[in-house]
Order: sequence, then structure tokens, then C-alpha cells
Amino acid sequence: MKEIVKDIYHLGDSGCSVYLINTNSSDGLVLIDCGMSLQLIKKINKINLNPMDIRHCIITHFHIDHIGACYDLKQFNKNVKFYAHELDAIAIEEEGHNKETAAMWYGVNYKPVKLARRIKGELEILKFGDYGFQCIHTPGHTPGSISILIETEEHAKILFGQDLHGPIIPGVSDFNDYQKSLEKLLDLNADILCEGHFGIFQPASEVQRYIKKYIE
Ligand SMILES: [Zn+2]
Repeated sequence: MKEIVKDIYHLGDSGCSVYLINTNSSDGLVLIDCGMSLQLIKKINKINLNPMDIRHCIITHFHIDHIGACYDLKQFNKNVKFYAHELDAIAIEEEGHNKETAAMWYGVNYKPVKLARRIKGELEILKFGDYGFQCIHTPGHTPGSISILIETEEHAKILFGQDLHGPIIPGVSDFNDYQKSLEKLLDLNADILCEGHFGIFQPASEVQRYIKKYIE
């Protein structure tokens, strides 16, 4: 577990990278994706945080490696609310979408969770504590993929671009949308990029270099 900047943590990898933001407010702790098991989340007492203080989980897209533990998290802590884009919502909220979620491919059975709110359109801002979590629609990898941008007190822009690397999956992904989304992410000029499977990139020049690698 690593503090990237003050109050923003990379908990580790559990299928995907799981990130946590401590809002130091009644909104408690905010997760960016859940990963596939609760193990990491249950261990946050090692960094003096309490998993019962998790209030919100923003889901970047419907793939099982990002949502597999959501149901268990809700059982463990009833206060957690989930958020995802409306275009990925059905596979998260309903049974029987093991093909879209790739649960079938991972050989697991996804248990659905209800969303507290479906994010709509190009951009919605979720206000938790003093943070505005900009949920930016970045379709391509999946139709309802979102990337999340927050600004720290020191005005550093931190981008959670979970599956920015893709891949493009036949029948689920859209290559043209993906390329447009990458351009959108480049224009954000983030200082730090927290990726879903390839770690953390900084400073801004490294973020730009990494995103450009995928632009054709
Ligand atoms: Zn994915």
C-alpha cells in the first residue's frame, strides 16, 4: 500500500489496481474500483484507515477485474454506494451478463450490485468532501468507460484512467471511440496518471508519453 500524494493511495492490485481517496469528511473513504477480492480493502487498517469508513465506490467500467468484489464489499459494509456510467450499468446491476463483464472468461460468477446513481452524458461531478470527482465519459474499451479526475489542494491533477491501455475487445469495444477518448485524456494535462494494470505515471510529461503510446 502506497500513498501517492497526501490522502490518495494505491492499495495494490486485486485483478486491477485499487485506489482509495480519504476525503477527511463525512463522505469518508472513496474507492476507485473494487478489484476481485476484498483482501486488500480489509487490510487498510495497516495504513490507519478503517474499511467501515468506505462510503463510495466509483466503478470505471463493467469488467469483472474491476467489479468482482463489489457484492462482497456491500455485504461487509452496507454504507458503501456504487456509481457507474449508465451505458455500463446493466451488466453491473443485473445477473446474466457474464460475457460482457468477462466473468465467464475468468471462470467466476459475477454477483450484481445496485448503483446509487448512474452517471450520464459526457461529464458528471460527484462531490465527496472537498473533492470534486470529475467522472468523464471515455468510451471505447467499453461503452460506459469513465475516467476520473480530481485536483488536490496543491492543484495537482490526478487522473484515474483505469483501462486506458485497452484492450479492444471484439463485440464490446469501439476502436474509434477509444482513440477519441485517448485524445480527450491527453487534453486534461494530468500531473499523475493512476492506471488500472500498469501502475502510476508522473510527472505530466510521462503521463502524456504514456497516453500517446496508444494513439494511432
Ligand atoms: Zn477492462
